[in-house]
Amino acid sequence: MNERHRIALVGIGKIARDQHVPAIADSAVFSLAATASRNGRIDGIEAFTNLGRLLEARPEISCVSLCTPPHARFADARRALLAGRHVMIEKPPGASVAEVHALAALASDRNLTLFASWHSRHAAGVSHAREWLNGKSVTRVEVVWREDVRHWHPGQDWVWEPGGLGVFDPGINALSILTEIHPRPFRLTKADLAFPANRDTPIAAELEFVDATGIEMSAALDWREERTQIWEIRIVCAEGTLLLSDGGARLSIDGEPVEVGSNREYPSLYARFAELIRERTSDVDVRPLTHVADAFMLGRRYEVEPFNF
Ligand code: NAP
Repeated sequence: MNERHRIALVGIGKIARDQHVPAIADSAVFSLAATASRNGRIDGIEAFTNLGRLLEARPEISCVSLCTPPHARFADARRALLAGRHVMIEKPPGASVAEVHALAALASDRNLTLFASWHSRHAAGVSHAREWLNGKSVTRVEVVWREDVRHWHPGQDWVWEPGGLGVFDPGINALSILTEIHPRPFRLTKADLAFPANRDTPIAAELEFVDATGIEMSAALDWREERTQIWEIRIVCAEGTLLLSDGGARLSIDGEPVEVGSNREYPSLYARFAELIRERTSDVDVRPLTHVADAFMLGRRYEVEPFNF
């Protein structure tokens, strides 16, 4: 077997521990060689408190995976690329659209891989949904993404800071799926954004889009759902209705479940990163982030009650 790529994980928080560490441990292609995080660490793995020191001390580490919040990510991604390392970044790929383009250009100049990952695209039902929709006549698209922020983001102040995206932090997952499976490009036409009086990012958003043939599409994102958590995309077609639920993990057509296999988003993401490195290419799709940026540009804002954990 070829030697595995030594990889460093940056930002040891919830998603690094829940998904990245187990996915790398199971990978035949990567081995976790070190971490960089101000406070977090993984037992048995050399830990640095910043990426600069790690890159200097461990020149044999060829890949870096960034699990920090979006506004903390650009400087480290740039640093790693300038040091000749391949880079994978968590979603959303940046705190602004322009910084993602800048990273893509840098990776291209240096002949390195930049993988701006969208984990929800790797959910079990998504590729099946895309296949089923091919050639169908879509008449309506509805996204409902409702979850309890206190449960999923306990104590995470960064989601409420500029660049943290608020409810778009989970909502962008729906947009990453929709841009992947919808047969045509679409654009935002209207947004209503609910901002808690004491916060800089929205807690809820009602979005309207139109696709290239005039089909209306809507998305209702809400972080105030304390009961049933819903992550659903319903696509009504002349030939039947497709429903992706559980964030893309489950698929049904006209109410009949479709067998899609088990959900292995993060192992699939690392397999894709390995493939990109092998092919010396990048995968950077800014469409989901562009829709979010458009919502902030076109959005009508209204104030709602303050949010506290
Ligand atoms: P998190 O638990 O807050 O972890 C992020 C870690 O990054 C922190 O623990 C912190 O570790 C480090 N960090 C560096 N600079 C920071 C800063 N300025 N502010 C806050 N933390 C900073 O966040 P997460 O839930 O893992 O999310 C990280 C990224 O993964 C986000 O882009 C998110 O959208 C994405 N993601 C999250 C989930 C999920 O279920 N949570 C799922 C998929 C994707 P140190 O203090 O040790 O530096």
